[in-house]
Amino acid sequence: MLNETTDSSFDEPEEPPDRRANTKRQKQPQLTRAGQPIDRRQRLRIPPHHVTKQTPHDRIHNWQEVYYGYTAGPAMFEAQRCIQCPAAPCTRACPIDNDIPGALAFLEIGKLADAAAVFRQTSEMPELCGRLCPQEALCEGVCVVGKNAKPVAIGKLEAFLGDWDRERRGGFPVPHPEIETGQRVAVVGAGPAGLAVAEQMRAAGHDVTVFEAWPAAGGVLRYGIPNFKTAKDIVDEKAEALMAAGVEFRFDTRVGSDVGWDELSRWDAVFLAHGASMGKQLGLEGERLAGVYSATEFLVRANLDDAFLPTALRSRPHVGRNVVVVGGGDTSMDCVRSAIRLGANNVTLLYRRTENEMIGREEERRHAREEGVTFEYLTTPVRLIGKDGAVVGIECVRMSLGEPDDSGRRRPQPVPGSEFVIDCDSFVVAVGYDVGRDVYGDSGIDVNDWGEVIVDEQGRTSRPGVFAGGDNVIGADLVVTALRGAHQAIPAMLNYLEELQAERAFAMAAG
Ligand code: SF4
Repeated sequence: MLNETTDSSFDEPEEPPDRRANTKRQKQPQLTRAGQPIDRRQRLRIPPHHVTKQTPHDRIHNWQEVYYGYTAGPAMFEAQRCIQCPAAPCTRACPIDNDIPGALAFLEIGKLADAAAVFRQTSEMPELCGRLCPQEALCEGVCVVGKNAKPVAIGKLEAFLGDWDRERRGGFPVPHPEIETGQRVAVVGAGPAGLAVAEQMRAAGHDVTVFEAWPAAGGVLRYGIPNFKTAKDIVDEKAEALMAAGVEFRFDTRVGSDVGWDELSRWDAVFLAHGASMGKQLGLEGERLAGVYSATEFLVRANLDDAFLPTALRSRPHVGRNVVVVGGGDTSMDCVRSAIRLGANNVTLLYRRTENEMIGREEERRHAREEGVTFEYLTTPVRLIGKDGAVVGIECVRMSLGEPDDSGRRRPQPVPGSEFVIDCDSFVVAVGYDVGRDVYGDSGIDVNDWGEVIVDEQGRTSRPGVFAGGDNVIGADLVVTALRGAHQAIPAMLNYLEELQAERAFAMAAG
C-alpha cells in the first residue's frame, strides 16, 4: 500500500499535514469575552467567594431566606474561577442545558445583563433553579474546578443574575407575542412546568388559561417550598409577568370536578402539569389523631399567609414542645426546619436508613443540624400513641440494613426488641408524594399504576391535543426536571397547534 503513493501517475498528494502547525492551532489560546487569554492555572488559584448567610441563631427566629446571595463584585470574582472548559460538563449535567460557561464569561467582565440573558434563554426561572437545584448532584457535581477545590458556585451565581435582572426590569420579562393566533391553550396546574408552558405558549401568540386548584400560582414553588429557601415574592412576580402578558389564571378551580373534560375540549390544546402533591401515608395505628399532619398541610400552614390558603388551612399549626417528623428527603428537612421556626423545643427526624442512603441535599441536613434538629437514623415509627384524641408519643423501632432493594439502597429491617417511645406533640409524615388522579376524570388518558401520565418523548399523552410534563409524569422530583418536562412538550404543542390551524384553514377554503 505504501508503494502506491510513490507512483508518479498519481495526482500530486496533498501537502502532508504540518503536525506542528496543527498542534499550534489546537493550542491557540482560548480568549475571555474581554479578549484576554484564559490562564487556567491562574484561575484555579483564585479562592472561592462564599455567599454570606444568616447565622443559625438568627435564622431560627425568622422565615427569611437563609442565604443573603451574591452582590456584583464577589459574583464577578467567583465567575472568574470558571476555567471555561470547552466540553462544558456542567451544561451537559444541567437538565435544561443552561449555557453556564457562556453566562459566566459575561459575568466575569461585568456584563450582567448579557449573563442573565444567557440563563433566560433556556430557563423561565433561573433565580428559582439557582436556589433550589441540588447543584452538587447536577452542574456543580461535575465542575472540573471542583476536582481539587470547591466547585464554582453556579447555582448561587445563577440566582444572583436572575435577581439582579428582575430588579433592574422591575420583575420578570413579560412575553410580547408578535402575532395573535386566536388559538386557545389550557394549562392544568400553575407549578413550574405549567408556568413554563403558559409563558412559551403566550409568547407564541396563543390565548392561555391556567387552571389551578390552590388560591394562587406557584404550585410547589409556593405551596411546597418554605420561605427560608425561596422568598415568595419571586413566585408572585412570575405570576404577575404572565398576567401582564395576558395569561388568564382561574384559581380555586379543579380540573376533573369544577371543570370537566367536556368543557376542557373547547381549548385547542391542553398541558397537564398538576404535579404530585398527594402526601403518602404510613398506614399506622393512630395516624388520624389530632396533631398528626401531612407534610403539605404542615408546610403550607406554617409558611403561607391566609390569603394564599383555602379557609380550612388558615391557621398556624400549634406544634407544642416536641415535634417528630418521619422522612428522608428534602421535604422532611423543610418540615423539621419549619417546626423549629414555629417554636418547638425538641425536633426529631426519624429515618429508617442511614445518612448515606438519604436522597435529599447534604446542605439541607447541615442547615437542619445547625438549627438544632436531632436525627434518629435507622429508626422507624410503628405506632402513634394518643391521649384524649391527640398524639402524645411515637413508638419506634430500630432498624438494621440488609441486602440492596430495587432502588439499590440497602433494605432496612426491624431489630427485634428494640422498640422505644419518643414524646410527641406533633407528628409530620413526609415520606413522599403521589400523583392525584381526580384530574383525569373521563378523559381516557393513559396513566401507569402510580397515576402518572404516560407520554412519549415529546410529552404527548394518549389523547390527541393533550400533553403533559413534570411531576405528574415522572413522580415527585425537582423544579428543574419539571421545567425539562415542559421544554420537551413545548415544541410538540406548537407543532400540533400549527397543524390544527392549517387543517382548519384548509377545511374553510374547501368550503
Ligand atoms: Fe445548575 Fe440547576 Fe442552574 Fe442547571 S438549572 S445550571 S442544574 S443550578
